[in-house]
Amino acid sequence: MTFIITQSCCNDASCVPVCPVNCIHPRPDDPAFATADMLYIDPATCIECGACVDECPVEAIKPDYELSDAEKWYVDANAGFFEDFSYDADDLPHEPVSHSSGDFSGLRVAVVGSGPAAFYTAAHILAARGTEVEMYERLDKPFGLIRHGVAPDHVRTRQVVSGFENTMRNSRFRLHLGVEIGGRLTHEDLLRHYSAVVYAVGAQGDRALDVPGEELPGSHAATEFVAWYNGHPDYADRTFDLGCERVVVVGNGNVALDVARVLAADPEDLAETEIAEHSLAALRESKVEEIVVVGRRGPRQAAYTPSEFHSLMELPGVDVVVDPDDAAAVAALAVAKDTADTDSWSVRLKADLYANVAARTPDPSARKRIVLRYLASPVEVVGNDTATGVRMVRNKLVGGQDGALRAEPCEELGVMEAGLILRSVGYRGNALPGLPFDDARGVIPNHGGRVTEGTAGEVVERTYVAGWIKRGPRGFIGSNKTCAGETVFHLLQDFQDGKLPPRPDRTSPVEMLGA
Ligand code: NAP
Repeated sequence: MTFIITQSCCNDASCVPVCPVNCIHPRPDDPAFATADMLYIDPATCIECGACVDECPVEAIKPDYELSDAEKWYVDANAGFFEDFSYDADDLPHEPVSHSSGDFSGLRVAVVGSGPAAFYTAAHILAARGTEVEMYERLDKPFGLIRHGVAPDHVRTRQVVSGFENTMRNSRFRLHLGVEIGGRLTHEDLLRHYSAVVYAVGAQGDRALDVPGEELPGSHAATEFVAWYNGHPDYADRTFDLGCERVVVVGNGNVALDVARVLAADPEDLAETEIAEHSLAALRESKVEEIVVVGRRGPRQAAYTPSEFHSLMELPGVDVVVDPDDAAAVAALAVAKDTADTDSWSVRLKADLYANVAARTPDPSARKRIVLRYLASPVEVVGNDTATGVRMVRNKLVGGQDGALRAEPCEELGVMEAGLILRSVGYRGNALPGLPFDDARGVIPNHGGRVTEGTAGEVVERTYVAGWIKRGPRGFIGSNKTCAGETVFHLLQDFQDGKLPPRPDRTSPVEMLGA
């Protein structure tokens, strides 16, 4: 018997320090952690104590005998990671450097946002003695991306909020809902009342394709669709035409797979989740038969994680297929591997999963089809008053000077008809009033979470960032724990160095406004 980490792994690494034999990797102190899709347990070292199971906030760790048939894939996925990852079993994780022994009385911090990065920030600050945190959320419910970004069928991932609810019970914590910073309350108001302000507002915007016709009705950002099916109040009145036969999803990340999965899922299964009622009603009436997911590069370069791809293949009643013409193009045009560091365990898993799908024969009894296309890009959304399809080109992969492979158009592929087009090419941070902004990267410039005037500029006093607005929209829910830890480490250091004034007055600016 051994313990296995499965799909819902959130990368918060809370399992790592409790493992007495150092068998869970990559650890946050390993450079590989920054790009890891998930963590893995080495079956050769695991002593089956189960300490990690108790610590995991999302029930991702199971003994091998409790795995469902679909989850048995993770046995090899865990073991395979260690084929070329070596570690010293005696090198137990160090206690993270912290300020737990100091006295931080008078340090009152405002945290803006209430998603995972905000709550991990609050928890790290509250771990220091005497601190207080007040959190500000624009909406009338907390938890940001957990509530409005995580797919409703990822039920275990959503359980991460139980840790956040513990923070909410801390007597040194207050949550203000329905208060937008930059509206009646400004950054300067917060600075007057708090020692410091941490912005953990996520990436609220989306990236555009920049092709003609993109603005036509029927062509939307996948982020809007995600917010709609998750009941985000700003998107509740959106409509998406599910009366068509084919939907095209452009992009090859986990969000693209999320929306494809939700579009293909049995609505009765979704009814068991926290999906918004209005979306469930629309999905029950859906006429969509085929969802085409279009990646501009090859299966080895896809941004999705192997675990999400694997769960797509396990969707009941859904045929996941690769068109034979596409498979031939991948074989001819997608070189075996690029010269950058992409021959990782994750890439090899993705290549194996792709080969598995490409070898499948179509299942005529399937309720719906998900067609995976690679090496293809839309160059135009076509239609007069509304989108009716996308004009596509075939791409070949071209190596850049940095060794990474870029997609370069090499052939016209004609128009693919579709009634709904969802571009899923990444989130993007928005600028905040009065704060510097790196428009190219869509982040607030910072050094380790301390906000700076531009990338090489002066530190902006008493102002910090954590999460996607700090590092860009990448990583997993738990990645924000390490990210917030770095920011809070610097913030506590600044308090100790006398750069942050104590704020013993406990009045909130909200109360002064009568908000
Ligand atoms: P992402 O992982 O950055 O993927 C963006 C995709 O869009 C990439 O495949 C990218 O291709 C493609 N793309 C970018 N510009 C394009 C263009 N002009 N034309 C065609 N394709 C284009 O973004 P995401 O899917 O929005 O996910 C954001 C983060 O949230 C990721 O870290 C993701 O793993 C995480 N997430 C995790 C889960 C989960 O764990 N279940 C679920 C959802 C999201 P190139 O690679 O060629 O640039």
